[in-house]
Amino acid sequence: MKRLENKTAIVTGGNSGIGKATAILFAKEGADLVLCARRKEALDKVAEECRGYGVQVVTVKADVSSHEDCSAVVKAAVDTFGKVDILVNNAGIVDKHRPITECTDEWWDEIIAIDQSSLFYMMKDTIPHMMAAGKGSIINVSSIGGVFGNGGISYSAAKSAALAMTKNVAIQLAPNGIRCNAVCPGPTPTPLNTPEKVAEFSTWFAERCAQHMDMSLPESSVEDQANAILFFAEDASAAVTGQYLIVDHGTTL
Ligand code: NAD
Repeated sequence: MKRLENKTAIVTGGNSGIGKATAILFAKEGADLVLCARRKEALDKVAEECRGYGVQVVTVKADVSSHEDCSAVVKAAVDTFGKVDILVNNAGIVDKHRPITECTDEWWDEIIAIDQSSLFYMMKDTIPHMMAAGKGSIINVSSIGGVFGNGGISYSAAKSAALAMTKNVAIQLAPNGIRCNAVCPGPTPTPLNTPEKVAEFSTWFAERCAQHMDMSLPESSVEDQANAILFFAEDASAAVTGQYLIVDHGTTL
């Protein structure tokens, strides 16, 4: 028996990095998928790979900072599969480690919209379907920046809000059989933090934040993050809700 057999999962940001690894792992474990992201071509490539494991996959081009787009993603899942068992809110961007004095209002708004408001939109639209079914599992991808404040100001704020929203939703929905947990990745090589992108970061602030971390420890892989997400998604964690799991090889201990 596969670990997600007969389940339907939405994965936001499913065309790259942690979202892509999660989509592939979920497909291997038997879940039908709805994948969304802004770049449809890359999304369709991941979908093709997932279909190779014998599951059905729907792709939706969506900007998760738009409530309308998020509604379309949930609608696609319900129209195609009649249900949503698992929601993985993974899509996100980084704020280049900008401290408060270097963060423009526009940059603040963009990060909050993509990394925080998207969780509100996706959960608000998905939860009524989970309530009707009397079950469901939501996994929000936060960050060590959400736990320790060691990222740029807007990123830390959004990722910390993701943890508060996780707990809030878990409290509300425990009586309905719906769980909500979060995964907090530590440094994980993905297109989000290639050496070229890291070169654009606020170096002095990134170095200051890194003083609180043991950067000599290994980086985690996208598969490490996907495995943690799978744990919260599957029924083996049926008694676990309102929790977050840091996946960082002990970097922040
Ligand atoms: P990535 O750039 O490979 O993937 C990000 C995904 O989000 C992509 O699929 C992208 O298309 C999607 N996305 C971004 N903005 C979007 C929007 N407005 N609408 C729809 N989709 C959008 O990066 P990743 O490292 O795999 O990031 C995945 C998640 O993990 C993010 O939430 C990120 O904050 C979190 N995270 C990553 C790290 C790390 O070191 N890689 C550490 C902590 C947290």
